[in-house]
Amino acid sequence: MNVIKTLNQNKGKTLFSFEILPPLKGKRIQSIYDSIDPLMEFNPSFINVTYHREEFVYKKREKGFLEKVSIRKRPGTVGICAAIQHKYGVITVPHLTCGGFSAEETENALIDLHFLGINDILALRGDPVKTENTFVPDDKGHAYAVELVQQIEKMNEGQYLDEEIKDPEPTNFCIGVAGYPEKHYEAMNLNLDIKYLKQKIDAGVSYIVTQMFFDNQKYFDFVEHCRQEGINVPIIPGIKPITTLKHIQFIPKTFHIDFPDELTNSLVNCKTNEEVTKVGVAWAIKQSLELKEKGVPCIHFYTMGKSENTRNIAKAVFG
Ligand code: FAD
Repeated sequence: MNVIKTLNQNKGKTLFSFEILPPLKGKRIQSIYDSIDPLMEFNPSFINVTYHREEFVYKKREKGFLEKVSIRKRPGTVGICAAIQHKYGVITVPHLTCGGFSAEETENALIDLHFLGINDILALRGDPVKTENTFVPDDKGHAYAVELVQQIEKMNEGQYLDEEIKDPEPTNFCIGVAGYPEKHYEAMNLNLDIKYLKQKIDAGVSYIVTQMFFDNQKYFDFVEHCRQEGINVPIIPGIKPITTLKHIQFIPKTFHIDFPDELTNSLVNCKTNEEVTKVGVAWAIKQSLELKEKGVPCIHFYTMGKSENTRNIAKAVFG
């Protein structure tokens, strides 16, 4: 089973899925299970696990020298996917990025996934590392997600980088990619962004998961725009409940998205995280009920590892 087969089998029904983050390095995998357990009663169709590349930090050394050190704060994406699939029997979708990988390293990561029986991937370019303003691909890596999709598709056809491998086994990955109802922040405009999205689909992608949005009309317009451009794959809306005062500033700045007036008017009056959670969860329920009524294939929740709010939303929408 994989994501696209699940979506196709359940046509007409809105499915439930969610995304989690690997725990910080040094923490236990139990924290992942603790965030998944409360959501299992809603029968998730698949669980995504994000990928976090290295960051550079400067560590103070003797005589005032600073050493630039590369660290990965949240490793473990592949291991977590395998562990979840094994423990819960749910399809897991590891996120795989171009950033930080040569084509050879990508191939080796794909072989690991294939051997583990993980047949789904969300293929992404990745953001720039925190100390750089623009995305810099690895010397021997990919500059855009479409190139990563092309590499995965080649492996699905049994083509590895080393052409001399005898009888190479084809992989069987179902590939999803990201889409942006409010445009990717680097794109000159939405038309061009959707043209590039179409390139990814034509390279062999089965479905799209959207960036979070808070105005459903933006999603509906995006789907229509995609259909006009000949993109016919399922487009899964991504929903995030706003739950802290920090989110109010962080989300528009980081994800380059707007809050609609009605939501903004409620959020400006919030003084505590509890007040924000009340508004944010109610908004996510309202959004999700409308999306479900319009027959979206699945609603994908960005939990950020905090399942209580997603649980309350799922109860109201899928319970
Ligand atoms: P691309 O599709 O490569 O697009 C990047 C930009 O380049 C866009 O502006 C696009 O218009 C343009 N472009 C695309 N193709 C071409 C081309 N051929 N020529 C010229 N321009 C082109 N990041 C992580 O690091 N880890 C994660 O786990 C993660 N998960 C995510 C999950 C979802 C659902 C979403 C929506 C995003 C996620 N991200 C993650 C963030 C993502 O990596 C960033 O948004 C990144 O900046 C763009 O990734 P992309 O795959 O959309 O890139």
